[in-house]
Amino acid sequence: MTSETDFLATRAALDRAARVAHLVVACDFDGTLSPFVSDPETSRLAPGAREALDALAACPSTTVLLVSGRDRSTLSRISEIPTESEATGIHLVGQHGSEWEGEPAALSEVEAALLAEVTAQLEAIALPHEGAFVEYKPSSAVLHVRSLPRAEDRERLLSLALEGPASLEGVFTTEGKSVLELAVREASKGAALQTFRERAGADAVVFFGDDVTDEKGFAVLGPAHGGSDLDVGVKVGDGPTAAAYRVASIDEVVASLRRLASARGVSQPD
Ligand SMILES: [Mg+2]
Repeated sequence: MTSETDFLATRAALDRAARVAHLVVACDFDGTLSPFVSDPETSRLAPGAREALDALAACPSTTVLLVSGRDRSTLSRISEIPTESEATGIHLVGQHGSEWEGEPAALSEVEAALLAEVTAQLEAIALPHEGAFVEYKPSSAVLHVRSLPRAEDRERLLSLALEGPASLEGVFTTEGKSVLELAVREASKGAALQTFRERAGADAVVFFGDDVTDEKGFAVLGPAHGGSDLDVGVKVGDGPTAAAYRVASIDEVVASLRRLASARGVSQPD
């Protein structure tokens, strides 16, 4: 559990970041703005999240983005936010930072052949097990084992994937909670945050995330990592993290976004 001290420290850090001239606010999607569900297609934004994102995007000199492991078109469908940022001011970055607006993730022949091989091997691992399945993305394949009832089966399947297709040359592995993503193109949420910081000329970056993949985002925050001392990395929930701050729940993420929006000059209806 996170403590009252965590909550107060996080709020104070967000209040400081809210006062900079240009602020980038980035959020992971699953587990950060959207509760986990067993069928990833049925995920939706938590109540109040869209309103808070819209309010922030309407603030002056404030760049808002969702940085998700999902591909952009899926992220758009489930978040109900258009892929083109012009309409909303909210940028969608997909596939852990490898998929951007206006840049289709076209693969080379070598990458496409490797992805086909990785996908076939993951399918062979998942197929015999009800509850395990492979998710297909433009530059990666993802093994999902969350719905397998026995922990030992979940671990065995993940181990098989790590020892097999994940060890092929040119494969980039990202481990999540009961999820293993094998990509044929390197990407990281950290690289995405750096790009938005530079593009916007931002004075601080705030990033909320809950999972292992978000650690690459937290790792680029703060002066020791080329960022600002007003950067705020916020881990959602328990578990080890490189983030300096923590909140307990998705509701606290939404409340934090609302607070940032209020502080940057746009008040919100209750
Ligand atoms: Mg997440």
